[in-house]
Amino acid sequence: MSQSVFCNYIAGEWVEGVSAIENISPADLSDTIGHYAQADEKQTLAAIDAAKVGQLEWQKIGLEQRYSILMAIGDELIARKDELGKLLAREEGKTLAEGAGETYRSGQFFHYYAAEVLRQMGETADSVRPGVEIQTHREPVGVVGIITPWNFPTATGAWKIAPALAYGNAIVFKPANQVPASAWALTEIISRQGLPAGTFNLVMGPGAIVGEVLINSKKINALTFTGSLETGRKVAAATAVNLVKCQLEMGSKNALVVLDDADLDNAVECAVGGAFFGTGQKCTASSRLIVTEGIHDKFVEAVIERMKKLVVGHPLKEGVHIGAVADARQMAQNLKYLEIAKNEGATLAIGGEVITEETEGYYLKPALFINTTNDMTINRDEAFAPIACVIKVKDYEEALATLNDTNYGLTGGICTQSLHFATDFKRRAQTGCVMINLPTAGTDYHVPFGGRKDSSFGPREQGSNAKEFYTIVKTTYMRA
Ligand code: NAD
Repeated sequence: MSQSVFCNYIAGEWVEGVSAIENISPADLSDTIGHYAQADEKQTLAAIDAAKVGQLEWQKIGLEQRYSILMAIGDELIARKDELGKLLAREEGKTLAEGAGETYRSGQFFHYYAAEVLRQMGETADSVRPGVEIQTHREPVGVVGIITPWNFPTATGAWKIAPALAYGNAIVFKPANQVPASAWALTEIISRQGLPAGTFNLVMGPGAIVGEVLINSKKINALTFTGSLETGRKVAAATAVNLVKCQLEMGSKNALVVLDDADLDNAVECAVGGAFFGTGQKCTASSRLIVTEGIHDKFVEAVIERMKKLVVGHPLKEGVHIGAVADARQMAQNLKYLEIAKNEGATLAIGGEVITEETEGYYLKPALFINTTNDMTINRDEAFAPIACVIKVKDYEEALATLNDTNYGLTGGICTQSLHFATDFKRRAQTGCVMINLPTAGTDYHVPFGGRKDSSFGPREQGSNAKEFYTIVKTTYMRA
């Protein structure tokens, strides 16, 4: 294979794959980012075996060294945020500012979990048997399989890799094949930190090959997955057979409720930012805008005016707010849902046009539909597109019932100046995260993240909650 292929990283070595894919920018189809190695079943199994060996060594490393390694990874991500953010923007299509912001945030995950390394405390208890003491402490779960989607190429990896390492685990990391460059760049940083060989392994390749090996392996002790509901179900089924611990973060159909008493300007910013930034390709995007009838017309008019100011274009161009759609498959899905919405009787108020740029790529103007109902396909399925639909409702109770009427439950938002409604919403929204006078997208790194219903399965990610997934509790009984 040619020297210019970016290799997999297995057992502390850079290893060529059995083939390679060309990574092309969705913003400029003439821009080849690189060729990336593709692992097969044998290489993936070798990575798992290497992780088994590496984990035993990594577990023995002192806490201060572990802390320093995680800090160094975080430092480098932050120092190189513009360079790596540009790479991310080129391969995923989001804007440079979003790419740099994601890289910076990824560094913060490593810093946060560096500190968590030093906060690993156990508990003691007296036994019911006199003279016997009990201790509980947490141990690494072992080898963690990490499977990530394409929409947050660096951050999703970071928020899984950082806690996995912090709590003493070894990793086999399989990024989405649409975005191998960011995963490779992160791996390259990790490869220079002196980790025991096998502690961290990168295996790039298709879900149907590399992913399937990981989810069906009995040697993996825990499997953390972020991606679609459809794949998540497969992961849950496969890991259940082997009784492998599993954590799933999947899709959603988030809604933002706007009540009559909302601050209109803020509600418009929450709706437009939450629905369209990141090209709508966020699991936390607000694709449903549930608006009470007193503010409905004013709100729709203001959102349309705000959308007219959104600049869609090449992600690296200054002044662009919305970059490119991630790939041809996602673009086809977006267009399919635009058609479905129109055919179901929704009114396209603005947007939805495919546009041409100086570079050939996948560019779509954000679309707003009005006169939609919650039973329409466009309000049931996750389109993962820059498409938002307004659902007009009578009052708060109808708004809340509409928000909860979905099989998903990641985030839910409300814009209101009423403490009564905000408090009630916080209690009754059937979502893992609740946003009050804020966009549904945009979360912190030091607190738990996750959803309900078909959006999530297993322990929460992020914050100190991550230890529930990445560790196992041991109980020790001692007679002096
Ligand atoms: P996807 O399910 O197609 O792919 C996700 C990952 O799974 C990829 O690495 C893919 O190669 C792998 N995969 C595919 N088939 C597999 C199989 N049979 N076995 C094992 N692995 C397999 O999802 P996607 O299109 O990459 O990402 C978009 C989805 O991710 C959306 O539904 C979005 O909502 C979701 N997402 C959720 C969160 C969250 O935290 N809840 C965050 C980001 C994205």
